[in-house]
Amino acid sequence: MSEPQSHYVAVIGAGPAGLFGARELALQGTKVVLINRDIKPGGLAEYGIYFEKHTMKDGLRKQFSQVLTNAGITYYGNVTIGSEGDLTLDDLRSLGFQAMLVTAGAQGTKWLGLPGEDLQGVYHAKDVVYHYNQLPPYSDWKFHFGKRCAIIGAGNVMVDIARFLIREKKVDEVICVVRRGPAEVNFTKEEMKHIIANLDLAAFEAELHRILPSLQAVGQDTEAGREKVLEALPKADPRFSETRFRFEFLASPTRMLGRDGMVTQLEIEDNTLVLKNGKTSPRGTGNERLLDVDTVIFAIGDKVDESFGLPVDASEFVKHPTPRYPLDGLSYEAFEPVTGSPIPDVFMGGWSRKASNGLVGLARKDGINAAKVVSQYLQTLPLVTPDLPALAAKLSSLHKRIITIDELRKLEAVEIAEAEKRGLPEFKFATNEEMLRVIEAAAVPE
Ligand SMILES: Cc1cc2nc3c(=O)[nH]c(=O)nc-3n(C[C@H](O)[C@H](O)[C@H](O)COP(=O)(O)OP(=O)(O)OC[C@H]3O[C@@H](n4cnc5c(N)ncnc54)[C@H](O)[C@@H]3O)c2cc1C
Repeated sequence: MSEPQSHYVAVIGAGPAGLFGARELALQGTKVVLINRDIKPGGLAEYGIYFEKHTMKDGLRKQFSQVLTNAGITYYGNVTIGSEGDLTLDDLRSLGFQAMLVTAGAQGTKWLGLPGEDLQGVYHAKDVVYHYNQLPPYSDWKFHFGKRCAIIGAGNVMVDIARFLIREKKVDEVICVVRRGPAEVNFTKEEMKHIIANLDLAAFEAELHRILPSLQAVGQDTEAGREKVLEALPKADPRFSETRFRFEFLASPTRMLGRDGMVTQLEIEDNTLVLKNGKTSPRGTGNERLLDVDTVIFAIGDKVDESFGLPVDASEFVKHPTPRYPLDGLSYEAFEPVTGSPIPDVFMGGWSRKASNGLVGLARKDGINAAKVVSQYLQTLPLVTPDLPALAAKLSSLHKRIITIDELRKLEAVEIAEAEKRGLPEFKFATNEEMLRVIEAAAVPE
């Protein structure tokens, strides 16, 4: 019997948080198995970031690829963890993992619970984003992007969706419905510049005029909002279509109406702003209006996956309120609120710790911090000899193709060659079947 060698940890999810969390753990000498739902790593960096951001995405892919060369990390793609997945957290425990770091992002869908959400033509931004970035199975889903599309939300995801509708779908009109005023939008000028050439400036001014009394009631005027929205104008991209882009400020969706199962109208309620403890918040006025639309897309953030097997509160997994290993005042530790007890071997990082929280850099930092917390926990545990044969046997009992790092490299090489052949900046297979076929073909000895 050989001496115990290392600590043994499963990192669940190979987005930026999981990849850099896994690297941090491996650098500490921990044996890491990185398990990913998707065949390819990258998470939203691969399947969320807008597809035309080639330089950014290529740079990230190179970093991720480098992380996976670490000898302490074993990658298994195409494996879902969860109570309805291929393996549960308990399965991982019984395979001898001493800790589990959950970096599975925020895969749940956040709905507002409004009438008409089940109509065709009503979508959640995440599904649309996964679709246009070709993540199976969303790549194959049929979406109805009609002539008039409303997007609910005022962040960078709203802008990405608008960009897609304006440039790719060339719809007639995109209406952005915003709960608050123009000074409180969350998108950045770096993103807004991609679509601002399509903003109907006359409609924007008319909208500012319409909401002026509500702004004045809380001591605001329209200048800050005008500046915030229009600051992207000097660096605007050229117009790619005749799509008219406009805002409905101070408005919240209340229901979707339809005909024959398809959405035809969005009802919105006008808001006014109220001041509370120095902060403004929107409050419905009771005045409702109907917008004729063919498509409604909710870009209101995501929530974690409720079927994962961890307790969820609102949009997030429940965290230990008094963590054993706080870092920067934050808890990275799972908690069972019903019994009031910690789940001592489960930790979380990235968007699994805080849903829809920031950019890749923040997810990366959060994954590293989560790994540091896991390392502290591991110091309380003995070293072990990871039972890799037991894991291999369990994975083979799943009767599905589990993707290893070597297979991933082959797939990447085929996709790069295909892009070159087609003269495209990048090429992606859009279904798991195609990816698996390529991997199987590459596996045949030459
Ligand atoms: C539309 C959109 C555009 C964005 N654009 C930018 C941008 O331009 N620049 C930027 O810096 N940031 C951008 N971001 C933010 C960035 O993508 C995120 O900050 C980051 O990807 C979050 O990382 P994460 O690792 O926490 O989660 P994710 O990136 O979501 O990764 C989660 C991983 O977990 C895996 N997984 C999920 N469930 C399971 C499961 N049950 N079992 C096993 N594995 C599982 C998934 O396959 C995935 O690989 C964007 C986000 C969105 C939504």
